Amino acid sequence: MSAAGDPAALDRSQEEARALAQAVLDRVLAHLAGLATAPACGDVEPARAAALCRALREGPPEQGAPIDALLAPLFDEWVPRSFGTNGPGYLAYIPGGGLFEAALADLIADSTNRFTGTWAAAPALVQLEANVLEWFREWMGMPEGTRGLLTSGGSLANFAAIVAAREKLLGPALRDGVLYASVQSHLCIGKAARLAGILPDRVRLLPVDAGFRLRIDALADAIAADRRAGLLPFLVASSAGTTNTGAVDRLDEVADLCAGEGLWHHVDGAYGAFFHMVPELRPLLRGLPRADSLALDPHKGLFLPYGTGAVLVRDGEALRAAHAATAGYLPPVPDEFHDPSQYGPELSRPFRGLRIWLPVKLHGTARLRAAVAEKRALALLAAERLARVPGLVLVAPPQLSLLAFHLQWPGSTPAQRDAATQELVRRVTARQRVMLSGCTVGSAYLARLCVLSFRTRRDHVESAAEDIATESAAILRLRNP
Ligand SMILES: *Cc1c(COP(=O)(O)O)cnc(C)c1O
Repeated sequence: MSAAGDPAALDRSQEEARALAQAVLDRVLAHLAGLATAPACGDVEPARAAALCRALREGPPEQGAPIDALLAPLFDEWVPRSFGTNGPGYLAYIPGGGLFEAALADLIADSTNRFTGTWAAAPALVQLEANVLEWFREWMGMPEGTRGLLTSGGSLANFAAIVAAREKLLGPALRDGVLYASVQSHLCIGKAARLAGILPDRVRLLPVDAGFRLRIDALADAIAADRRAGLLPFLVASSAGTTNTGAVDRLDEVADLCAGEGLWHHVDGAYGAFFHMVPELRPLLRGLPRADSLALDPHKGLFLPYGTGAVLVRDGEALRAAHAATAGYLPPVPDEFHDPSQYGPELSRPFRGLRIWLPVKLHGTARLRAAVAEKRALALLAAERLARVPGLVLVAPPQLSLLAFHLQWPGSTPAQRDAATQELVRRVTARQRVMLSGCTVGSAYLARLCVLSFRTRRDHVESAAEDIATESAAILRLRNP
C-alpha cells in the first residue's frame, strides 16, 4: 500500500524507493564529479556562516516534502559552504577523502539494519567485523590474541584503550594513577583520561625534543618523581604521528622504558598507524607492533569516511574485562567469537565493519598499500619543492606525510613571522586550489600541509607548491619592498 490515503504509512513501494535512491545517487555522483574543480574550501567566513545558520533554524515540518526540494539546497548551498574535506586539494588538518564504496556499504548496513552489537544476533556479519580487526592486527604486526573494537573514531579508540589499562593496572586505586604523554599529544588523550577518571592533576604532558618527539629523559624523570611522591605511574600514551607536525615518538624507546617500569604503552596512531601497512615505511614506526594498545583511524589513513575508528589491545582479555556485561534479556556471549558489546561501551551500534570490509575487499590490500605509500612520496615531493622557496623554512620536514613550515626573513621578529605565516595560509587557501591549515606550537604559528586523501595526486601537490611559492614571494615583497 502506498502512503497516499494511509496517514500512518512510512514504508515505500519499490518504485518510490528506487526514485528516491536515484535522486540521491544523481546528486552524489554530480558532487563527486565536481570535486576536481570545486573550491578547496567553501565560504565559511564566520559572520556569513552565522547569518546562514540563523536563517536555517526551523521547527519540525508537519507535512513531508518532495526529495528534490530537500536535495537542492543541501547540495547547492549547504554542502559547498564548508571545508572541502573530500576534495583533492584538502591538505589541511588530517585528510582521508572518504571512499565511495563505504557509502554503498552504509546503504546496505542501514537498509538491512541488522543488529551487530552481539554476536548471536548476526553471527556472520559480526565475523566480518572480527576479520577486519584481524586484518588491522596483521598490518600493524601485533601478535595473535590481540583483540579490538571498531569505534566511531580515534578519540573513542584512545578512550577504550585507556579504560582497559586503568582497569588492569589500577583497579580501585585509580585516584593515584598517573598518565604520561607529550605536550604535542592530541587533545583526546587528556580528554579520554578525564572521562576514564584520571583527573588533570594526574596527567603529565611532557616536553618534546627538536623533532617534536616526547623526550625520553623527561619521561623517566617524571615517572621517578611520581613514584617518590607515592603515586602509581600506569600508562604512557605516545604518538605515531602528531596532529601538529606529524612527529612520531621514539616508540621503541618508550616501549623499553614501559617494559622496565611495568607501565602500559599506548600508541595513538590515529594519524600515522596505516603507514605500517607499507613494509618499506615500517622503519619510520619502529616499535609500533610492541604497543600494549593502539588507536587507529581508518577515516584518515585508510581513506574511509568520518565515523570509522579502531582500537587494538595486545592483552585482549584486559579490553574485555573492562567492558564485559551481560543481562537476562540478552543472548549468551560466545567464547570463540567476537562480541562487540563485550569490548566497548556500546550495545546498539551501526554495522561499522561493512564500511571497512567492502572497500578493502573491492580494492584489495595491494592497491590500498600503494595509495598509502604514494601519499608519503607526495609529501616528500612537497618538502623538496618547498625547501627551494626563498624565505620558507621547513620547521618540521615530513616524518610520515605531514610537514610544517613558516616564513622568515633577515631581521624578522617572531610576531612578524607568525603574522606572515598566517597570511600565507590564508592567501594560499584563497586561491582555492588547495586548503592548508596552521597550528600553534609552543609560541610559534606554523603552516602545515598533510597529504593523506586518496584523491590527492601529484598534480595537486604541484599546485600546492606553486601557490605557496607565489604567495610567499608576494608576502615577502610586501614586507621587504
Ligand atoms: C584525528 C586524531 C585523533 C582523534 O581522532 P578522531 O577520529 O577525530 O576522534 C587523535 N589523535 C591523532 C593523532 C589524530 O590525528
